[in-house]
Formats: sequence, C-alpha cells, structure tokens
Amino acid sequence: MTNFPFTEAMPIQFQAPLPKASEVVVIGGGVIGVTTALFLARRNISVTLLEKGRIAGEQSSRNWGWIRQQGRDADELPVVIEAQRLWRQLAEECGEDIGLKQTGVTYLARTDKEMAGFAKFLKIAQIHGVDTRLLDQGETAKLIPAMSRSFKGAMTTPSDMRAEPWVAVSALARLAAREGVTIIENCAARTLDISAGRVSGVWTEHGRIATSSAVVASGAWTLLFLRAHGVSIPQLSVRATVAATGPMPEIHSGAVADDRIAFRRRQDGGYTLASGGSSQLYVGPDAFRHATKYVSALMANPFGTHYLPAAPRGYPDGWSTPRRWNADEESPFERMRILNPAPRSSALRDIEREFTALFKQFKTVPIKASWAGMIDAMPDVVPVVDRAAEIPGLVIATGMSGHGFGIGPGMGRVVSDLVQGNEIGHDLHRFRQSRFSDGSPIKLGPSL
Ligand SMILES: Cc1cc2nc3c(=O)[nH]c(=O)nc-3n(C[C@H](O)[C@H](O)[C@H](O)COP(=O)(O)OP(=O)(O)OC[C@H]3O[C@@H](n4cnc5c(N)ncnc54)[C@H](O)[C@@H]3O)c2cc1C
Repeated sequence: MTNFPFTEAMPIQFQAPLPKASEVVVIGGGVIGVTTALFLARRNISVTLLEKGRIAGEQSSRNWGWIRQQGRDADELPVVIEAQRLWRQLAEECGEDIGLKQTGVTYLARTDKEMAGFAKFLKIAQIHGVDTRLLDQGETAKLIPAMSRSFKGAMTTPSDMRAEPWVAVSALARLAAREGVTIIENCAARTLDISAGRVSGVWTEHGRIATSSAVVASGAWTLLFLRAHGVSIPQLSVRATVAATGPMPEIHSGAVADDRIAFRRRQDGGYTLASGGSSQLYVGPDAFRHATKYVSALMANPFGTHYLPAAPRGYPDGWSTPRRWNADEESPFERMRILNPAPRSSALRDIEREFTALFKQFKTVPIKASWAGMIDAMPDVVPVVDRAAEIPGLVIATGMSGHGFGIGPGMGRVVSDLVQGNEIGHDLHRFRQSRFSDGSPIKLGPSL
C-alpha cells in the first residue's frame, strides 16, 4: 500500500522498442487491455499493448477488489462466471500472490423494497447455478455478529471472491509479457491510421505501428479517443472515493455493502472502505451532449450523483481538453499519464462516520491511505464490447461501469475472440454499440 495510488513517480516496468508492425494493437493497460492482450498472445498472435502511463494506473488498481457474480446484469453473469474460473487459473499461472480468495459478497437491506430487488436477482442466479441466497434478519446478524444495527435481511453469495487490484493487474501484465505481449508504458496512442476506411495502423507518441486490428480499452479516455475518429458512444466518467485502513480486528472476512457503506477485508488485515453509492460528475461538453441518455439512471437514483461545474484541467471531459489533434502533435493522453483525482474529503468523513456507526466497537478508523478513481460509466450500466460499426478493424471494449475488475479476465477472453472473429460463447447483443443509436430503449442494469 505504501506506493498507492499509482503515480508517475513509479518506475516504468514495461519498456520495449516500438514494433514496426503488430497483428493487434491494444490501447490501454487496465484489466481489460491486459487480459485481452494475454489471450491474444495465447493464440500466437503478435500483440502490442500501449499504456500512456503505468499498467493499472487508473481504475484497475483503484477499485475495491470485489470479484462478484452477485447483483450482476443477467447478460453479464455468464461472462463473470467464466471470469471467476479464469481468475483462479491466472492466479496460479502468474505465480504471484494476488490476494485471490473466496470470501463472499453480501448486500444488506433495510427495506422490503430492497429485499424484493434481491429476490429478482436470486432468480437469475439460480438459472446459472450461482449459490446466491437470501438471509432473514436473524441470519444476517449471525453472518456479521459485530454489527450494531439490525437489518431487514441480506443477499449473500459465498462463492464470490476478492483480489488485491494494485497487485493483481500488474502481475497479469507480467504474465502477458512472459507469454509474448509487447507492453510499452509511457506510450500514448494518439490516433488510428485509417486507410481505405479501415484500420491500417496506430500512431503513438513514439511513431507508427502498422496493424489491421486495434482494440480501444482506454477506460475513462475511450470516448475522447473514439470521437476524434467520428465514433461516438454516450460514455461519461464519475469520481469515486476510497479509503484503506491499517490492520484491524476481523469483523467479517468478505465484502459487504449497504446504501451507506461498503467494506472489504484485505489480504494485509486492513479494510478497504467506501461510502455507499455517491459519486461526482464533472460537467463538461460530453455530459451535456449525452445528458438525455442518462435520464433513466438519474431517475433510478436521483441523489446518487453530485454535480461539479468543471473537471480539473486535462480531464477527458474537461472544457479546455482538445477534441482534435494530429498524429504528430502532443495529445491529451500523454498530457495526463495517470488520471489521479483527489479523494473527496466529505466522502472520507462519511466513510468514517458510517463505519463507526455500524461497528460501535471502533471509536475511530485508522485510515492509512485514501484515493479516488474515475469510473467510466454507460447510461445502462453495462459495457460496450463490440466491433465499431464505422471503422472495420476497430474493437471497442469499455464502459465497464464500476464493475469491470471482477469480470475483467472474462471480458478479456471475449474481446480476444471478437478480434479474431471466433465464436464468443456468450451473447454480446446487450453490449452492442448500436443500442444507443438504433432507437432501443435504455434498459437499466444494476449499479451494485
Ligand atoms: C473506486 C472504484 C471502485 C471499484 N470497485 C470495483 C470492484 O470492487 N469490482 C469491480 O469489478 N470493479 C470495480 N471498479 C471498476 C473497475 O475498476 C473498472 O471497471 C475496471 O478496472 C476497468 O478496467 P479497464 O481496463 O476498462 O479501464 P482502466 O483500468 O481505467 O484502464 C484504462 C487504461 O487505458 C489507458 N489509456 C487511456 N487512453 C490511452 C491512450 N490513448 N493510449 C494509451 N493508454 C491509454 C489509461 O491510462 C488506463 O490505464 C471500481 C472502480 C473504481 C474507480
């Protein structure tokens, strides 16, 4: 934890000369880009993975570390079930301790309405053979006896897991490099080179790589990159604050959330904490452009988002962030190598208040680190994983909407097969790019 959050002061781990050509170029070294590249390399495909800053420098190290099937959208669930299997396999193969452990995920309910919501997911879980179950008031108290409040009930999935994100994704990148992926940190992709209407290369800050296939897995920066090529998806990003305590007595070994507090026991004996559900949207040109698409999400949780009039300079949807640049000009991507938002101080106060209210035995919370991340969100809270309709050779894998860590290896495997034109094994219709432009109604997925 001492080096957290990741900043540009961290040494570069992955350096390589820019190849002249690569069968596939993956843009973005988060969990999605890293695992996509790994699975491509396993098919003997030459892959270059470009990361403008550090591997996992953004969302993929800043998250809570929950690997959950519980509460998933019905169309994501089969992918996350596969991801659970892949996490186990990759943890073995990488030969490093990534903190992977099956400790379960539990959601607490105060109201009958929340319990009714849980019951809906239970039916989906049962169809897929997931061990989710509902608990009544007494069973909930028994599961976490240290709680000083009583709850109407809970939903719990014992087979859900956790891993330590700031260790895990770098470890997977080292595995990918050993298996032949060329990984280059501190190397932004500036633009696609398009010839005869299709991808023919990627221009980076260090020159051009010839390729017929590019994957944009650029998290919160994806829309900025795509729009420069005339491709638009209604993606926005919101700031979420997290705190980590030093080692504490164990109150529960798994991950738990209600609408006020979320906590998860870490490998090092501390807890990762966040306040339930509230995030901040920095209003910028894209927020205005796509506001109408977010009406359903807003109505479902009207007080879940706070609005701030402008993002700090250089953010993807900043007012002064350039929207166009040439391949030989510095791009917004290399101007901000790591999106490292300041944690919100009121969120940290909420975390401390809610955690000590729930666990009265703690008078204070020994917070040793705090940070924030920009979550890349879609209006229906499920990702876009698709071939870009406008540009043959371009695949989009983004908008994981706050739950892409757990599903990461599953999506990486899916994207690698999408690139190759193979049978995917899952129905990707829900994740199609065109759903926002073909008149389909927004079908809201669950946010947690
Ligand atoms: C506070 C918080 C808590 C979360 N908790 C959980 C959780 O418990 N469980 C869960 O499943 N998910 C969680 N998530 C969500 C999860 O972290 C993300 O969905 C996931 O990490 C997204 O991975 P990614 O690879 O798509 O994007 P990222 O991890 O954001 O990676 C994108 C990368 O692309 C790079 N990049 C961008 N543009 C360029 C360019 N032009 N050239 C080169 N590189 C570029 C960026 O520098 C970045 O490193 C949480 C997220 C946050 C912020």
